[in-house]
Amino acid sequence: MARAGGERAETGSPEPRRKIPSLDALLRSEPGRRAAATFGRPLLKHALTAVLAEVRAAVARGVPPPEDDELLAVAVALASSTSGGLTEVINATGVVLHTGLGRAPLPEGAAEAAARAGRGYTDLEVDRSTGARGRRTNRAERLLLSLTGAEDALVVNNGAAALLLALATLARGKQVLVSRGELIEIGGEFRIPDILAASGAKLVEVGTTNRTRVADYRGALTERTALVLKVHPSNYRVVGFTAAPSASELAGVARHAGVPFIYDLGSGLLDRFPGVPAEEPSAVRALADGADLVVFSGDKLLGGPQAGIVLGRADLVARMRRHAIARAVRVDKMQVAALEHVLASWARGERDELPVWRMLREPAAEVRHRAELLAAALDGEVDGAQVVSCSAAVGGGSLPGEELASYGVEIRALDPTAMAARLRTGSPSVFCRVTEDGVLFDLRTVGGDELPDLVRAIRYALEGHDRLDA
Ligand SMILES: *Cc1c(COP(=O)(O)O)cnc(C)c1O
Repeated sequence: MARAGGERAETGSPEPRRKIPSLDALLRSEPGRRAAATFGRPLLKHALTAVLAEVRAAVARGVPPPEDDELLAVAVALASSTSGGLTEVINATGVVLHTGLGRAPLPEGAAEAAARAGRGYTDLEVDRSTGARGRRTNRAERLLLSLTGAEDALVVNNGAAALLLALATLARGKQVLVSRGELIEIGGEFRIPDILAASGAKLVEVGTTNRTRVADYRGALTERTALVLKVHPSNYRVVGFTAAPSASELAGVARHAGVPFIYDLGSGLLDRFPGVPAEEPSAVRALADGADLVVFSGDKLLGGPQAGIVLGRADLVARMRRHAIARAVRVDKMQVAALEHVLASWARGERDELPVWRMLREPAAEVRHRAELLAAALDGEVDGAQVVSCSAAVGGGSLPGEELASYGVEIRALDPTAMAARLRTGSPSVFCRVTEDGVLFDLRTVGGDELPDLVRAIRYALEGHDRLDA
């Protein structure tokens, strides 16, 4: 629509200049009233205001305004997408921990536990035997201690909050040493230097982007140094001529200087087990290497809900717990319920109960089998739907550079970007990969139970696409 308007403007509009309708007139119109009854007047009014602002801006550029019906239809679509809330989607991107799509899908039991906690009353902060007030994260923290052997644990709202709290508690007004190679940005909104600044700590950059040595840290220590911070460069990997001290070397530097060593692990692998690449740090290993505190997310490799987890020295955790920011970044009861469930699964050794680990560990041959089923279901309707081998990704800032052998189905499209857009906005909604001459559905992140829906979505998108191309 926008493009059609633009073209008309360029060629000079033959139509007489229409007036832009008023907000009131639109709300009073018959379709306006119907839409207000469906979505509520405040939401429709808000949507119409936004659409009218766009129309006015377009008119100022010489684009004639759309008909009232068309304008209302755009506002109704906006109100509808807002009112409908989150939409379930099929993740055919092959990115297991896709931040845009909500990172870790919860196991059924954890989702149910969260729903129960949300629906009714729970013993969130009371001890049922004594009636005394307790802490909402006690159970989750005990599970974390049992799983890692850490001295103490603290659960907050997310990984960034855990790091912010640690820095504000231990380093406000003082210096924090970080390697230049670790001043990372994740997803465009999480930047280590910004978190440091927000905490009131002063960043001292150590070494160079590709090489930082123990001596660089020693040379940067002053009496104003509050702590040494190591950040797992979780969404990229510096390759080639590189050097970085190990966690145990940094723990040594910090211990010698009498300051804590904090390791931001990001991805939250609790412990090592076969099949996980050697470079991925685990909480247990980092603590054994001498980290005074480790922080990580709950919704990455832990496979749980959004949460920030801190493990380590009891005296430091106790100070963090008392800080005002801890209250400001506490977890919600539904997060608590889901996290407890996921940690209990880890405690029972039921890693494959967690969708994230099922997807990460599934043999490629099984993924290929689903790709063949999809291709067969599309056969005859879709020109050249073929099974291809591809690489899935862990995502979410975990296991950078680590690719998972995977299989997908690629279908050709004249305009792959438009095809992907049709798939996203369809029902069910599908997110896939765009290739040079088509779209690719990576089956590593699509379950067998989702295949019928995926087939339906692809058929629907292709019908629309044919019309577009006709
Ligand atoms: C993901 C990540 C964070 C942020 O965690 P959130 O739970 O998204 O707030 C912080 N540090 C590292 C190294 C990460 O990978």
